[in-house]
Amino acid sequence: MTRETRDTVTLALADSEARPPFAPGQFNMLYAFGAGEAAVSISGDPGDPEVLIHTVRAVGTVTRPLASVKRGEMIGVRGPFGRGWPADAAARRGGTMLLLAGGIGLAPLRPVIYDFLRNRAASSRLVLLYGAALPPTSSINANWNAGGAKTALIFT
Ligand SMILES: Cc1cc2nc3c(=O)[nH]c(=O)nc-3n(C[C@H](O)[C@H](O)[C@H](O)COP(=O)(O)OP(=O)(O)OC[C@H]3O[C@@H](n4cnc5c(N)ncnc54)[C@H](O)[C@@H]3O)c2cc1C
Repeated sequence: MTRETRDTVTLALADSEARPPFAPGQFNMLYAFGAGEAAVSISGDPGDPEVLIHTVRAVGTVTRPLASVKRGEMIGVRGPFGRGWPADAAARRGGTMLLLAGGIGLAPLRPVIYDFLRNRAASSRLVLLYGAALPPTSSINANWNAGGAKTALIFT
């Protein structure tokens, strides 16, 4: 678990079963035993679906226990659900990809950024406009400038 802000954590889930592939924008239903389940976007790298990453903001009955889960504890996972976004095809076409997000809304865009960096044409450019009370930390902004990508990160 990585703490991103006071009420937001990123969970990396290990699983003995093979994980199905996922596309940017898809989500899983995460189940906190004894509390219930909530929809949470997959915020990891679609190129590495074996490591299942979710970023959870603790707001209520289900997300609070999910965000305070300890290493080695179990949570349930159903999914992935949703149609997903063709970020890889868009990156290959070249041009500028503009992403806008606020707060926890950045989490579902993280797989888009991974796919963009892996598939971008030489002329591709990524612009992220992000509004948040606090700057994102560790895992949220890691490696966005990897590989010489033309990336502009603008805090509002
Ligand atoms: C497709 C999809 C993707 C999502 N992706 C993410 C993600 O990546 N990360 C993430 O953190 N969240 C995500 N969410 C949101 C997440 O599913 C919700 O935050 C979660 O369902 C809340 O469940 P909860 O039981 O923890 O909160 P609840 O207990 O249902 O409470 C939710 C909110 O309602 C308020 N509330 C509850 N009961 C009442 C009441 N009686 N009167 C007034 N207010 C009340 C609570 O204070 C709280 O602010 C996603 C949702 C969808 C649909």
